Amino acid sequence: MPDIAEQYKQRVSSYIEEIKVSGEPVVIFGAGRAGWHIMKVLEYHKVSVTAFSDNDPAKQKTYYNCQVLSPEEIARRFPGGRVFLGLFVPDTARSIKKHFQLLNFRKIHYDTAAFFFVFLVEVAGRICDEEKLARSIQILFENYEEGATHYGYTKKNYFVSPFVTSVITQKCSLRCRDCAQLIPYYENPVHFSAESVIDDLTRYAEAFDVVPEISFHGGEPFLHPYLKDICLQAAAIPNIIFISFVTNGTIMPSEDTLRVLSSCGADVHQSGGYGPLSRKQDALFEAFGRHNIYSDVMFCLPTEMWIQSSPYNKHARPAAINKELYKKCVSGKICCQIMDGELHRCPLSAHGGRQGLVPLNTADFVRLHGSGRSESGLTSDIRAFLTREQAISACDYCDPEGGTLVPPAIQLPR
Ligand code: SF4
Repeated sequence: MPDIAEQYKQRVSSYIEEIKVSGEPVVIFGAGRAGWHIMKVLEYHKVSVTAFSDNDPAKQKTYYNCQVLSPEEIARRFPGGRVFLGLFVPDTARSIKKHFQLLNFRKIHYDTAAFFFVFLVEVAGRICDEEKLARSIQILFENYEEGATHYGYTKKNYFVSPFVTSVITQKCSLRCRDCAQLIPYYENPVHFSAESVIDDLTRYAEAFDVVPEISFHGGEPFLHPYLKDICLQAAAIPNIIFISFVTNGTIMPSEDTLRVLSSCGADVHQSGGYGPLSRKQDALFEAFGRHNIYSDVMFCLPTEMWIQSSPYNKHARPAAINKELYKKCVSGKICCQIMDGELHRCPLSAHGGRQGLVPLNTADFVRLHGSGRSESGLTSDIRAFLTREQAISACDYCDPEGGTLVPPAIQLPR
């Protein structure tokens, strides 16, 4: 039995050979992140995508110069085509596959894992232990069977990280009043050194079988002078799958930095709703396109609004109520945060704790180094921290369902 990396490569090669022999139309369902990666692998092997398909009417326009059509329209115009499902979650893939089968398609593949692996090692050229990366991707896709945002222990007893952000700088090019990371309220913001960022990340990743995504944040991460080193060294950790950056669209990285991001298979998400403040957004899209870097515009809420938090006053709620608030937050999309050697469960705890807005006690975060623990001791501390149900101190100062909807990126005076 070939190893997983080889199996992924062989599967992708055989699709490509079959397409080249048959000359059949090639359709990717899903005009988004997974579909983009499949398209890039096909293009790399000189196979053109005939069309994209998507059920979202808002996406039924063009995507990277390809038409985006409904499945019914695909069936009318490209009967007998081969369909790749550019999706992550298997449940969704099964239902879309049924839909295409009802439209008389016979060659429908859900193999995002194989395409993503081939994208990283062949198209991008990420340098890391390939077999470990392939194994991690396999575990990630098994974990998606348990839900799109599932983390913790899987049915096969693997331990999967939640979505995690790493704050590499507290400096920013904007001063958004309602910044969820409270960045404008640092009196002396700093960049964290590349060594400390990577040291923290390496220790964190050792506690997991797979870290689905590390998202580098700021402040504005493109201000960091050692972005290339951070990206390259993160890419060498083989159980981290997606490496992404969140930018406010104001800073253009150098060509050299863009080449490094591309060679690591990194993605960039541009925060949406900043309007003319994101003055480099179009140029960034052009540069990312030129360098084969996946990029999209990301909104925190479907309404595309931000939330101005209620003041952080002590609520003195019963512990059971805070526990329920906390459980709701951590079972949703809220991420955990690594900053300056500490692992936190929420931005309010990470940043508000430092700024004295909320209290912190030693049980509210995990110190990633310096406490003389063994590697296994740190692993069990991280796992216990991420699976605990008890609220953190910050929760009693927070009103997660309150606040006011406001336009994005209202600027504070300089
Ligand atoms: S501090 Fe607020 S946002 Fe953070 S976990 Fe607690 S309740 Fe949720």
